[in-house]
Amino acid sequence: MFAQGFSIANAIIFTYNNGKKMKKNRIRDLSRFELEAALKEEGVEPYRSKQVFRWLYKAQASSFDAMTDLPASLRALLNSKFYISDPAVLDLRRSLSDGTTKYLFKLEDGNTVEAVLLPEKERNTICLSSQVGCKFACVFCASAPFGFVRNLSQGEILEEAISIKNANPAANITNVVFMGIGEPMDNYDNVMRAIRVFNDKDAFNIGARKITISTCGVVPGMVKLIKEGLQIELSVSLHSANDAVRSKLLPVNKRYPLKDLMQACRDYIRATKRIITFEYVLIKGVNSSKDDALSLVRLLKGMQCKVNAISYNKIPGSPYEGPSGAEIKIFMNALKSGGINATHRKPKGEDIDAGCGQLRISRMK
Ligand code: SAH
Repeated sequence: MFAQGFSIANAIIFTYNNGKKMKKNRIRDLSRFELEAALKEEGVEPYRSKQVFRWLYKAQASSFDAMTDLPASLRALLNSKFYISDPAVLDLRRSLSDGTTKYLFKLEDGNTVEAVLLPEKERNTICLSSQVGCKFACVFCASAPFGFVRNLSQGEILEEAISIKNANPAANITNVVFMGIGEPMDNYDNVMRAIRVFNDKDAFNIGARKITISTCGVVPGMVKLIKEGLQIELSVSLHSANDAVRSKLLPVNKRYPLKDLMQACRDYIRATKRIITFEYVLIKGVNSSKDDALSLVRLLKGMQCKVNAISYNKIPGSPYEGPSGAEIKIFMNALKSGGINATHRKPKGEDIDAGCGQLRISRMK
């Protein structure tokens, strides 16, 4: 007989098989292929593995016992080898103005990450975290002062989506963006493994073109992504067309300066035939003058891209602030006159601190 236990301290779920302690694996950490291989070893036929996979990601089953069309013996096998976890929702905030809902999740080891649901007329986008904390220390980011803790696993990334889906059963998730806490290119393998499940027809069935990776400019990750042969949307957090200013805002620029970053962008566009979106956080007196806009026009001239300008989302205690409406107008007009496809948007869910990392930080304090 199996008995089960759970140890929060080291985040390992275990089971007792005739008195012998055995470690259980989080089933959503396995790729579809790995799941099939693991079950095959136990004599389970591939069509049964497919059923399990569909239960996990199409039906978002929260226990093996809920997988009612599986034989009892298979459910017992699954219970003995694996576990299904749903991260606990520690906090939830829904914007009254635009319906944006932000979730703070508690992971098994007590760490916390955030994810956001952005409902729109035609689509529901989820914004996911890829790491607990971040190494990249962008000066305007809420997560920067608290440093890096660890990568999220494939399953932990997928479970952010599953928890949001469970909380919003009527909302069909159509788009996924990696713009939450962390740098997805710094947790490349697990992010790609999760993306394959998002992509899978028997799971979320979300096309690569509906999945966006946002990077602060980790060039080797961009080069690797080109080789995947997927048409994943790439967003690059640019924030300045000037190396000195960019290095101050995003220290990663010292390692991968604009020349290397722009070359990787051009290579990405050529290989994937997709345009790149450049994110540009407008900060008063730092990167939002007409001259800054003209530098940006020169940098991006002739490139298949668009610019997504967003006003700086004020973080308590930060010396930065967003520019005035008049300054934003001058900046945007200069981009448009320079032939750059650019839009300015207000941060979503401002009334709920939806800016990346803010809910986690307010809890940590
Ligand atoms: N590390 C990745 C993804 C996480 S940040 C990246 O850098 O792209 C997601 C986006 O939010 C980035 O474009 C980032 O520059 C932006 N961002 C971070 N802090 C912000 C703030 N306070 N106001 C507005 N945008 C911010």
